[in-house]
Amino acid sequence: MTTAASNHPTGTASANPHKVSHISVFGEAIEFFDEAASNLELDPNIKRILTHPSRQVIISIPFQRDNGDFDVYTGYRVQYSFARGPAKGGVRYHPDVTLDEVTALAFWMTWKCAVVDLPFGGGKGGVTCDPRVLSKNELERLTRRYAAEIMEVIGPDKDVPAPDVGTTPQIMAWIMDTVSMHNRGYTPGVVTGKPLNVGGSRGRVEATGRGVMIAIQSALEKMGKKLQGQRVVIQGFGNVGSISALLLREHGAKIVGISDQYVGLQNPAGIDVESAIAYINAPENPRRSLEGFPGCDTLSNQQLLELPCDILVPAAIENQLTADNARKIKAQIIAEGANGPTTPAADGLFSQAGVTVIPDILANAGGVTVSYFEWVQDRMGYYWREREVNERLGEVLRENFDAVWNLAQNHKVTLRTAAYMLAIQRVVDSLTTRGIYA
Ligand code: NAD
Repeated sequence: MTTAASNHPTGTASANPHKVSHISVFGEAIEFFDEAASNLELDPNIKRILTHPSRQVIISIPFQRDNGDFDVYTGYRVQYSFARGPAKGGVRYHPDVTLDEVTALAFWMTWKCAVVDLPFGGGKGGVTCDPRVLSKNELERLTRRYAAEIMEVIGPDKDVPAPDVGTTPQIMAWIMDTVSMHNRGYTPGVVTGKPLNVGGSRGRVEATGRGVMIAIQSALEKMGKKLQGQRVVIQGFGNVGSISALLLREHGAKIVGISDQYVGLQNPAGIDVESAIAYINAPENPRRSLEGFPGCDTLSNQQLLELPCDILVPAAIENQLTADNARKIKAQIIAEGANGPTTPAADGLFSQAGVTVIPDILANAGGVTVSYFEWVQDRMGYYWREREVNERLGEVLRENFDAVWNLAQNHKVTLRTAAYMLAIQRVVDSLTTRGIYA
């Protein structure tokens, strides 16, 4: 295990540590922070601390393939901030996972937890692998070794992982079991997003999509509009995209475009979301792909983003809305289901064009909010009904959405800058109350 405490991803703590020769996801993510920090007139000493991750862990994970050979994958756990509580954030299994990306994701988690006022810091993990080509047994061995390697730094009071792209409730159950075996005691609170029968929370699977819907409803309400009849395009049809589509449709919106990494689909008359979910879950569709789903025209992911619609929900991966396509986007509301789907350049263009962007740290905070509820339930050993979970989720999201909206109005800034301002101020308050142990 390599632990790079406070080691900036550029490798140096230079005066301008965010200038890198290649495009750094973390470097770009910091641009949003910088704008909010300057609005807050943040003390440069505090800013220096908050623009460095607390801890970055890099590990090599040997694991045995089903054919007996050994592979070695690289895994990461980045704990960006502990100022407000244990680090919190998902684990990503994807071929493109890098330390830079995981650091950016951990950075976003810090502000996401703070913007909805959860008692957590921010963290994220990942393994550079393609989970789709691994058998179930291989995935289990990889996960258990990853969990064993990061065990020293995770725990209910230290850092609480959860699912993200490419990881599932079953993978969370293996992490929980591995840690429990080593601890010689049931430790459900070490990880969230678990299946219900091993300490998961009701409503967790749907929570991020439900939060996206609540964020869109809240924004429309502020604009004096209704969800009924709004045309929605959703990129990504995994946990976040498919549940957002389902709930938005249930509440009256018309889903006119969906996509996954293989294909985009459009139908201006409305897509039958329930059937699309059944289609990807069918046993004869092991890649869980939308390819071949009937009743829709096919198009590329780029074309999908540019479809005529009222609301666009990017719910796949980072950097999908860029300076190249921002002017071609027709939606008037963009609700960021994914983390980091909009580059700073595109964000500026949306702001100039009067497009309302509900930023990732607010729009997709439903998942971590119910993860918080799961952690609380695990610690109490007392499990809530789904109705209670959903009610509390709605309260948390609406209350903090209002706070962000009002801040944006008062300071004449975008919702993104307002969300960062609220979150940064909360982290700074905790940090300065605790004092800086230097
Ligand atoms: P997932 O693995 O369940 O689904 C990802 C979807 O995106 C799949 O449909 C996949 O085919 C598609 N996709 C992948 N690469 C793509 C590409 N290049 N172009 C178009 N589509 C592509 O993942 P998820 O949990 O739904 O997460 C999606 C996004 O939401 C990620 O940015 C994640 O960090 C964020 N997020 C997830 C949660 C959660 O609770 N799951 C919470 C907050 C934020």
